[in-house]
Amino acid sequence: MQVIKSISGIRDVVQKLKSGGKSTALVPTMGALHEGHLALIRKALGHADTVIVSIFVNPTQFAPGEDFERYPRPVQEDLAACEREGVSVVFLPEKEELYQGDAFIGFEIKGLAAHLCGKSRPGHFNGVVQVVNKLFNIVRPDVAVFGQKDIQQFRILEQMAKEFDHGIEIIMGETIREDDGLALSSRNRYLGREERKKAPSLNRALQNIAIAAGAGADPRALTKTQIGLLEGDGIRVDYLEIVDYESLQPVDSLLPGRKHIVAGAIFLGKTRLIDNRIFEIA
Ligand code: AMP
Repeated sequence: MQVIKSISGIRDVVQKLKSGGKSTALVPTMGALHEGHLALIRKALGHADTVIVSIFVNPTQFAPGEDFERYPRPVQEDLAACEREGVSVVFLPEKEELYQGDAFIGFEIKGLAAHLCGKSRPGHFNGVVQVVNKLFNIVRPDVAVFGQKDIQQFRILEQMAKEFDHGIEIIMGETIREDDGLALSSRNRYLGREERKKAPSLNRALQNIAIAAGAGADPRALTKTQIGLLEGDGIRVDYLEIVDYESLQPVDSLLPGRKHIVAGAIFLGKTRLIDNRIFEIA
């Protein structure tokens, strides 16, 4: 397994792989790898000859006061995990390698960032698009794999690849969970004992809503009830919303044959957890 820190280095490696007839899959991550990330790597291995994992805690997707500084960075463990999983190349750039005085060009993500995390974390998805666009242009993989866990990110990047004509197939990896249903996240390690006990409530609320909504119940009433239950348990709800899968706009009524997402974010102490379910009305 090669560990490459420079843009020119990764370009050379990818060039060699391609001229050797190897297809490539990119799995972008911020490190602190867990089974969710490893499942994406395994999925990527099923779609390409070689897998490239990027590990970069991207400063531009964190707002001031968020957890950029304290975000876990266990680089040696991450590299060992990549090696075990059969990753060919890890791209591990420093901030200065990716951002060299970028200041002149911005862009707007329209409706896809207007709700859910985009509303609570203004500018977050601009940072995500900025870094993944760079990674796509640097690595030029055939496919890239992202988790359903970050469904709004997935939809925005899927749209980006289409609208920017990256020519990269975007593949979704399912959400990997603890036995009690809590979605794995690098941020779960911040949870205290009592917070950890409450954390699976988000998944339960989403599951209840997806089942009842899929069976025809009123979406607004459903989310209201589940927000009440979570708050009754002392959990601060950032949002809990049903949106259309394509547009990520909130819906008042559910249309048969269309995919919907119920997504939520909660705070347990200072830790913000997100999760979602995709469902269709029969
Ligand atoms: P992150 O390191 O948090 O930026 O995540 C890197 C990738 O892993 C993203 O595509 C996430 O959606 C994905 N991911 C995070 N948690 C999970 C999980 N529990 N199951 C599957 N994929 C995940």
